[in-house]
Amino acid sequence: MKEGKYYDKFIKQFLVLIIMAIKTPQILPGEKGYISKKEKTATRKESEKRIKTVQRKKDKIIGKIKLGAKRYRIGRLSITPRKEKKYPIWKYSKKIGEIIVSPENEIELTFKRLGGIGNFKHLIQDADFQLQWAIREQELLMTQEKCFNCSKKISKAAKPNLYHYNMFKIRTDLLEKAAKIPEQVISGKLTIEKGWEKFNDTLEKGNRYYMSLKDTALLCATCAKQKNLNL
Ligand SMILES: [Zn+2]
Repeated sequence: MKEGKYYDKFIKQFLVLIIMAIKTPQILPGEKGYISKKEKTATRKESEKRIKTVQRKKDKIIGKIKLGAKRYRIGRLSITPRKEKKYPIWKYSKKIGEIIVSPENEIELTFKRLGGIGNFKHLIQDADFQLQWAIREQELLMTQEKCFNCSKKISKAAKPNLYHYNMFKIRTDLLEKAAKIPEQVISGKLTIEKGWEKFNDTLEKGNRYYMSLKDTALLCATCAKQKNLNL
């Protein structure tokens, strides 16, 4: 009997302890494991931040597009009035292009580069090139009698007009080539890094060709004006 009483008391105490544990789950300040409100808020904010980061990373997975080197990033998503998702492409702090995903999930990527391909002599700030250009003009003045375009006699006294007669074709070919590069980035064949490098190299080839003065001849003043040579 005595033993039973003791047992009852023990059970009661045990139950009280359990109830207390359920009723007062929080640990009081100063106790081991106590977390202040401030810390709780910080923890919550931290986890919210983590969720957001994961979401942002998820948002940035666009088809098979890969970045390559760390200096290339896909920027923050915006929605266009046509309900397309638009992402800028950054290299460091310079915008080099953008990706547009249509509501039908079609991906379009464009690279953007300032300046044309071998457009006008005066746009090229290179003293050596300017000199080579003048030398070529003088050479041709001595050897070329007639206008490359219309065969009219070229005046030796007038200002010479040096013309890149293959530039239009070269430019068109290179632009066509460059336009195919984004497709390779979209399919994952090239990273954004490699794609951008290839895109630039391709267009730079046009400038190198222009500066090489290959395929140049003189035009008469009338033809030069027609071709906007002296803009
Ligand atoms: Zn002419």
